[in-house]
Amino acid sequence: MSMTKSKEQLTGTRLLNSIRHNKSTAFTKEEREELGLRGLLPAKIANAEMQQKRILQNFYRKESDIEKYIFLTSLLERNERLFYQVVMQHIEEMMPIIYTPTVGQACREFAQNFRKTRGFYINPGDKGEIRKILNNWPNDDVRVIVVTDGERILGLGDLGSNGMGIPIGKLQLYVAAAGINPEQCMPVTIDIGTNNEEFLHDPLYLGWQEERIRGEEYLELINEFIEAIQDKYPKALIQFEDFTTDNAYKLLNIYKDRCLCFNDDIQGTAGVVLAGILAYERAIKKEIKDMKFLFLGAGAAATGIGDLIVSAMVERGMKAEDARKNLWFIDSKGLVVASRKDLPSYKQTYAHDVKPMDFKEALETLKPDVLIGATGTPGTFTQEIIEKITSYHQTPAIFALSNPTANAECTAEQAYTWSHGKAIFCSGSPFANVVYEGKTFKPGQGNNAYIFPGIGLGAVACQLSRITDDMFLVAAQALANLIQEKDLEMGCMYPSLQEIRKASLAIAVAISKRAYEKGLAQFPEPDNIEKHIESMIYDPSY
Ligand code: NAD
Repeated sequence: MSMTKSKEQLTGTRLLNSIRHNKSTAFTKEEREELGLRGLLPAKIANAEMQQKRILQNFYRKESDIEKYIFLTSLLERNERLFYQVVMQHIEEMMPIIYTPTVGQACREFAQNFRKTRGFYINPGDKGEIRKILNNWPNDDVRVIVVTDGERILGLGDLGSNGMGIPIGKLQLYVAAAGINPEQCMPVTIDIGTNNEEFLHDPLYLGWQEERIRGEEYLELINEFIEAIQDKYPKALIQFEDFTTDNAYKLLNIYKDRCLCFNDDIQGTAGVVLAGILAYERAIKKEIKDMKFLFLGAGAAATGIGDLIVSAMVERGMKAEDARKNLWFIDSKGLVVASRKDLPSYKQTYAHDVKPMDFKEALETLKPDVLIGATGTPGTFTQEIIEKITSYHQTPAIFALSNPTANAECTAEQAYTWSHGKAIFCSGSPFANVVYEGKTFKPGQGNNAYIFPGIGLGAVACQLSRITDDMFLVAAQALANLIQEKDLEMGCMYPSLQEIRKASLAIAVAISKRAYEKGLAQFPEPDNIEKHIESMIYDPSY
């Protein structure tokens, strides 16, 4: 996507203050002359490389990650292209700063660190007027919206309007990892209050300082927002982000057949974990339909992953009810079984008719190939658990998905050490390589950022009208196809983050092909879908 030309040519200080058009010291001699910049810049004419070098030097000087986050934010607010050049070239290092885990702290301290406003806020006082106030947004062609209500921010709970850091960070990844044009991105917080006692009493808190609205009133406000978006930005993809599990499922079920939307916590997570499992299939040469899965945690992430694994098994010729028999879930009350009366519908499909069991007993009884932790509770994959699974399985897969790093069910080192180097380990947060008995193991990071930017790129480039569940299946396959033998040999089920743009393009192509087959793409079908999508990719170079 090329940069939209400004209607009138900006000059002088207005040009230097335009985050989108500013090149600062990299304006050439001719540009300085033509654009009224002489006298406003020091003599030396820099180039992008020199500017990047200066940014990196300053970045490394910052002592804490939150200072790095604030530094990068201030760069973005001066020079958007330089920000994306730096982030893209150093994605492995920058991703934990602009997104999890640092973004968690940035959200907690959002009000204290508030400087320049970004994103779009809706609160209960806007009821009946959302369509009107949408006109205040400066861009007429928004294509990707990430929206949260701030109630379940990462593993940090209810952060109210401070949760705005999440849509902002996710959209930066859409740009950096897939090449969506930043002008076409819109971070949104539906600020319906907070039940966070600290924020309710903090004079610096910036959000709607009342208890959350619930029930019909809540759903009506969300619905008014969705309808306003459909009216003003009918081509926009809406990504629901960090809602509580019940609301996440409720909203997804209401809107997935009505507009272009998906939920990243449920569907994006499922896509990235399934990709890891498809790589594991290759690594141990055992088909997914012959594998057994035990989940610790039965929330949005775990049940979303479960549903997509079932779809993958169905695609391989199994009946859904038989596929579900291979998936078992444990939540904070124990094994999800038919006799339990407390199960919401998304858990009921996995409630098998067996006696109640705790985690250890379930593991001993079921002997799974794959253990998936999505609890938010650290340390739940104990030495005993890892030793037990390794006692009957030659190469078990351990997914410790809980974020941030401190919440992981076990660390990479624990998984390799306790399994005597037998386990394949994947995590939600990044872990460094581990050397165990002379062999280097590379933990794979099942980061949703491998999936959602590619979904967005396909949706924007081919103007998809819906995101269907099976698109996450083809996205997972496309990602798994990029994993090389050398990664598998080191026990790594994901490609390196350096490959993320390649992954996003492959996913965009795969889901767009699926959309054309199903009549869900509105852009006339190009002869070469890949070339078409590539031609739409935003390039931040000057
Ligand atoms: P959630 O609140 O919807 O679900 C948590 C589940 O864990 C619930 O079923 C709860 O009963 C269960 N649980 C908590 N402690 C437990 C314990 N000690 N034993 C058994 N069950 C326990 O949350 P979610 O959205 O499903 O997210 C869960 C975790 O997964 C979070 O930490 C999140 O960071 C992580 N996550 C990771 C990725 C990723 O790595 N790509 C993506 C999404 C979520």
